[in-house]
Amino acid sequence: MKSIHKKAVLVTSAIAAPYLVYRLYHNYVKNCPSIQLESGEPFFAKIAKKEQIASDVIRLTFALPNKKAILGLPICKHLMVHGVDSEGNDVKKPYTPITVDRISKGEFILVVKIYENGRLGNFLNGKKEGDQVKFTGPVGKIEYKDQDFYQLGKLVSVKPKKIGLIGGGSGITPLLQLVRYLEDQKIKDVKCTLIYSNKTQEDILCKEIIEQLVADGWLTVYHNITRGDAAEGMEKRSNNNQKNTIMYRK
Ligand SMILES: Cc1cc2nc3c(=O)[nH]c(=O)nc-3n(C[C@H](O)[C@H](O)[C@H](O)COP(=O)(O)OP(=O)(O)OC[C@H]3O[C@@H](n4cnc5c(N)ncnc54)[C@H](O)[C@@H]3O)c2cc1C
Repeated sequence: MKSIHKKAVLVTSAIAAPYLVYRLYHNYVKNCPSIQLESGEPFFAKIAKKEQIASDVIRLTFALPNKKAILGLPICKHLMVHGVDSEGNDVKKPYTPITVDRISKGEFILVVKIYENGRLGNFLNGKKEGDQVKFTGPVGKIEYKDQDFYQLGKLVSVKPKKIGLIGGGSGITPLLQLVRYLEDQKIKDVKCTLIYSNKTQEDILCKEIIEQLVADGWLTVYHNITRGDAAEGMEKRSNNNQKNTIMYRK
């Protein structure tokens, strides 16, 4: 009788142990704090939402493995997005999410400019909600950590209180990532000034985000519009002697 009981316990353990491991693993994945970007391994993320936010700009919201997961991308680093161009060739390009980990759990957002005949932008534009996209990362030489700047892992600027940012077109996204991080962390003693250049006012990417950051005192911005007139509310500030290039201040 005793041995039957022992066997029963063993059998139960044999079934229970893998079940327990499975439950633990399932719970771990469900609550996984971040995807493992540091490993450099590729990962796939599903497009949860695709929005056309301007005639040539889309905003893609990518779902992370669970609702609590964060991307874990170091500030000032980028993701490499992988795709296939219209001729069937593999193509990869860097993109920077405009989201901040702490307030963007379970997802990250890319703003993508679509150029005529652009290889990767058109690949992404051809995707629909529910499709998967391949990423690797983090990539990039610069990192902002504990209010210091590092270049290729070497400390290059110690806790600067003034940060100058210069960007054009879709080059705004890495800059916004930094300012949004300062805002999120409430690092009020660091002042950011941005010079942002675009052909026309309509080309200004993430305009609402920039305006909100300005209104809330996190950013001072100077728009450089190389074609066309100033937007409402902008004032002409200076002519920098370059033909057709006018600096506007908002
Ligand atoms: C750090 C970093 C972060 C970035 N983050 C973002 C981001 O968040 N969002 C974003 O939209 N972009 C971002 N970019 C830019 C992005 O990586 C791509 O370079 C950009 O989107 C264009 O890629 P594409 O493959 O769509 O177009 P491409 O194939 O590079 O083409 C772009 C345009 O150039 C023209 N062209 C290409 N080759 C030639 C040639 N030989 N002669 C003349 N014309 C040519 C094409 O016809 C097209 O009109 C970032 C770039 C960097 C470096």
